[in-house]
Amino acid sequence: GAFKGCQKIRGPQLRNLLEAKDFILLDCDGVLWHGEKAVTGAATVVNSMIRNGKNVVFVTNNCTRPREKYVHKFSRLGFTDVMLEQIFSSSYCSALYLRDVVKITGQVFVMGCEALRSELQEAGVPCVEDAEDPDATIYNCPLAPDVKAVLVGHDDKMTFLKLAKASCYLKDPDCLFLATDIDPWHPLSGGRILPGSGSLTAALEVSSGRKATVIGKPSRFMFECISSQFEGVDPAKCLMIGDRLETDMLFGANCRLDTMLTLTGVSQTKDAEEYRDSELTTNHSFVPDYIVDSIADFLPAFEE
Ligand code: PLP
Ligand code: CA
Repeated sequence: GAFKGCQKIRGPQLRNLLEAKDFILLDCDGVLWHGEKAVTGAATVVNSMIRNGKNVVFVTNNCTRPREKYVHKFSRLGFTDVMLEQIFSSSYCSALYLRDVVKITGQVFVMGCEALRSELQEAGVPCVEDAEDPDATIYNCPLAPDVKAVLVGHDDKMTFLKLAKASCYLKDPDCLFLATDIDPWHPLSGGRILPGSGSLTAALEVSSGRKATVIGKPSRFMFECISSQFEGVDPAKCLMIGDRLETDMLFGANCRLDTMLTLTGVSQTKDAEEYRDSELTTNHSFVPDYIVDSIADFLPAFEE
């Protein structure tokens, strides 16, 4: 094609690329696993990368699990050498943002799942207690006086009352509006989908008339978290590997990283080529530099 990107890469070229990079940033769902099922060969590749001295970090928009639970998931699925410090989830990074960037003074109202609340608590960020009286309505429920931020994320216990309360807190222009991520939906098996944080964020954006600040991919903040916790992170020596063009490849482009699409998840080659061949130059940020069928394509790079 006339435009750059979407290079199918394998064999010795893949080995050379790996050699040129110090940091490998890995998306999780769609690259390493589908739900509870590991992608064939993924664990061997990741274990080999780590044993060969690569700095491997995980960047996931899934905010439904505290980092300790991720450590367990990694080991359960055969990724044997993953440590807490390598995991950057949108809930953990939201907690860092509130603690270190905002330096929050009041409380946070969380429209999200329990794991999100526990990541905030772990970081010492106070949340509004959310034990809801079954008779409470938006007409009679109490509102906390010191809510300085509303944080929205995936919430499988989402209620109308939570949406209404969050909208009320956001009437105060000094109350920040944050979203863990704005992923629209996630694939489940059998053709089903799981609505993502983005669908709840959109509801709250409409009812509040405001726009959320996004913490997870494609926002650069996750990369700033990595840079602040590891020595010598040079964007030119990082490779971002993911399965979704609109989050992972855009994230890489926003942070000036080389990007690689794996075809084991949401986006396919034709989607990438459509963005590549688009007249609209803003679409070019969704284009991966490289494409592989699977993370398992790295296996030969570790064989003599
Ligand atoms: N958020 C939720 C609630 C999910 O279930 C998933 C994937 O299963 C994600 C986000 C996406 O995670 P990742 O960024 O690792 O693909
Ligand atoms: Ca993914």
